Amino acid sequence: MRYKSCGYIEHGVDFEHRRLTTCCFTCHSGGGHIDIVDNYNGELVDWDKVFEMKRKLREEHKKGNITPQCKGCVFLCEKDWDDEDYIDRLQFNYWIKCNSKCIYCYAENNKTHYEHLIPYNVVPAVKDLIDRGLLRNGGEIAFGGGEPTIYPELDDLINLFTQNGITNMRIHSSGIKYSQAIEDSIKAGALNVVISIDSSSPETYKRIKRVDCYDKVVENMKKYAKANTEGYGLMTSKYIIIPHINDNIQEIENWIQQTRSFGSRWLALDIEDVWYKMNRNHIPDFYLDLINYVISRAKDLDMKIELYDRAKGLKEGLNVV
Ligand code: SF4
Ligand code: SF4
Repeated sequence: MRYKSCGYIEHGVDFEHRRLTTCCFTCHSGGGHIDIVDNYNGELVDWDKVFEMKRKLREEHKKGNITPQCKGCVFLCEKDWDDEDYIDRLQFNYWIKCNSKCIYCYAENNKTHYEHLIPYNVVPAVKDLIDRGLLRNGGEIAFGGGEPTIYPELDDLINLFTQNGITNMRIHSSGIKYSQAIEDSIKAGALNVVISIDSSSPETYKRIKRVDCYDKVVENMKKYAKANTEGYGLMTSKYIIIPHINDNIQEIENWIQQTRSFGSRWLALDIEDVWYKMNRNHIPDFYLDLINYVISRAKDLDMKIELYDRAKGLKEGLNVV
């Protein structure tokens, strides 16, 4: 049946600190985070309950009743959705520790809260999902923050997914620690590593990341880029536009050239979260000009550009409440 919904409502689960939600996207006017399971700490998941809840959401969307938390979300789209119960989108955002100290990081800026969270191990729950035949290839398996490469279960998870035919993983990494498992999965065409370098010089990098690791990150990005294949396996260089720090054409142009010099054609662009949410109703046109500049340069240089949700929302005029 044709109706407005999204892949996360239909078939997604996000593993967050202490809860499961449909997705991790929160920058649109509805605010996101539809709770699926409250007070979650790594137990096996009652998938029947999850699907029951998803069916309820699905029925409302069929009637044209968009879930309030989804209002304004860039991922809503009208198309023919299947009526089946399975998962093909997982997000892992329950990690806390990181080897970077980005000025825009929600965990860095709320340390007392995050330091007291107890991390859980998600491997048994994922294994159970696979053993029940409920995980399908075709959506996306995405790893977010803290820093996935410093968690020992990352390799187990990557192996679990590749051994079960998953060919569409995405890992957001600081790029500071090199991961052989990531390189191997890039080579196998199953993984896209996204590194938000946000800069094109050690000085700007240090101002944003507050660690002295620019050279190490550049070296690792080059190594991952070398493993690129023509399929899904690739290294994406991401740039989060941070007002008054890196929001200028020169730094952005240098970043595009830097990505090319690493041997990658893949760019991703976003806007800093806190500033975006505070200014969503009056974002200066200049920021849309920056987005259009990157799109146009990517076209000129035969590169690929992915707009992350805030940049996409601004481009599509969805930023207002
Ligand atoms: S519409 Fe957006 S907020 Fe709602 S579940 Fe989908 S991705 Fe998440
Ligand atoms: S790399 Fe991600 S998790 Fe780590 S400090 Fe930066 S924003 Fe936070």
